[in-house]
Amino acid sequence: MSTAGILWEHTNGEGIPETRLSSGKEADLVVIGGGFTGCSAALQAARSGASVIVLEAETIAHGGSGRNVGLVNAGLWLPPDDVVATMGEAAGTRLIEELGQGPATVFSLVQEFAIACEAVQNGTLHLAHAPGGFRDLENRFRQGNRFGAPLQLLDRDETIRRTGSTEFHGALLDPRAGTVQPRAYCNGLARAALGLGAQIYQNSPVTRVERAGKSWRVHANGEVVTAPRLLLATNAYHTLAEGAYAPEYVVVNYCQFATAPLTEAQRAKVLPGREGCWDTALVMSSIRTDESGRLIVGGMGNTDGPAAQIHARWARRKLQRLYPDLGDVPFEHHWRGKIAMTRDHIPKVVEFGPDAYAVFGYSGRGICPGTVIGTAAAKALLGEGPDALPLPVVRKYAERFKKLMGAYYEFGASLTHATRPGLMG
Ligand SMILES: Cc1cc2nc3c(=O)[nH]c(=O)nc-3n(C[C@H](O)[C@H](O)[C@H](O)COP(=O)(O)OP(=O)(O)OC[C@H]3O[C@@H](n4cnc5c(N)ncnc54)[C@H](O)[C@@H]3O)c2cc1C
Repeated sequence: MSTAGILWEHTNGEGIPETRLSSGKEADLVVIGGGFTGCSAALQAARSGASVIVLEAETIAHGGSGRNVGLVNAGLWLPPDDVVATMGEAAGTRLIEELGQGPATVFSLVQEFAIACEAVQNGTLHLAHAPGGFRDLENRFRQGNRFGAPLQLLDRDETIRRTGSTEFHGALLDPRAGTVQPRAYCNGLARAALGLGAQIYQNSPVTRVERAGKSWRVHANGEVVTAPRLLLATNAYHTLAEGAYAPEYVVVNYCQFATAPLTEAQRAKVLPGREGCWDTALVMSSIRTDESGRLIVGGMGNTDGPAAQIHARWARRKLQRLYPDLGDVPFEHHWRGKIAMTRDHIPKVVEFGPDAYAVFGYSGRGICPGTVIGTAAAKALLGEGPDALPLPVVRKYAERFKKLMGAYYEFGASLTHATRPGLMG
């Protein structure tokens, strides 16, 4: 398959100036990493009148933020009861409630800063891939109701109408949610922060972090940024920064395949309401369309690894199975991204030194959590303290068997994609 890379790079619209760090600087807050977390933190800091510097190793949204599906979902991937069972009643309820507001926060930022990112707030559909999947959705529906989520359980006929595919057994609609062009959303956050006075340096990989007196000294491009507060927002794309905490997570790969734009007639049949979708299968997959009518099929797996062809063939078969009427519509883009998964699927905020947080581990749901927790981390560091965060801060976090678990996920995805023709298995 010969296709161009990340679709979102081609439809990104306006980026931000390509300034690299080329002299020493001082600020109230230094942020390492320019994804949703780092850019939201910078925006919040700049809004509050603080001076903030973002250092990004590559370009804004180089990591998960520029590669994801674009589902702006409320809450976590984990069902609410599991969140409470893991975190306890008070902490779990707070996180669920604050992340329940996540889509409203994201879409209001999009509006406030006029971010051109193909934002569509038409809800998302969690699709039952099998009868057992529908029972899972019934559970999620009941649990969500208890937390006031305005979810709707859709029967098979309604799901066929909305997806244009007969492959699903029902769906859970979350009308709070929607989709964005994720790279454009992230660049929009960065532009908004710049507009309010933040300094953002790209191609400025941080190589060393050290504490000197009451300040952090952060080294990049042979220069030093000095600040009393530090946010490490490098997540699954962390590259070595000597002296800083290294986020601990298991890497799970997720790949996507985008077709050529569909014709008007095809678009009227395939996801005509433009809901973004993902399914209940253990080896999860997703479908959505973009503004130009491309259909984007996603699934777990590493298309840069040895099973690349298996995942590519799976995507083709899956497209045919879901939408046989589309015939041989070609894939024009394919790419993959790394998800930072924690063992309990709950994000982590680690205070690894005085006024220094590392935020990571959104476990596949980071648009809203990255925006909400990034914003809250800036508030916490700039004076409000850890209560500003929607989840407790921990002093350390270690993940066991990282390589083994990563290999296990990739093996599972490869085996499933090699042996099963599509969503229904
Ligand atoms: C394929 C895929 C699909 C996904 N789909 C969805 C979805 O539909 N909905 C959803 O909510 N979430 C989704 N996610 C999860 C979401 O994309 C991530 O959780 C989110 O992007 C994390 O944002 P972040 O800012 O914390 O990290 P990132 O966006 O990964 O940003 C980290 C940044 O840090 C930089 N960096 C690393 N090391 C250094 C250093 N030493 N110095 C300077 N900079 C450094 C990197 O270059 C990178 O730009 C998906 C993730 C993937 C990979």
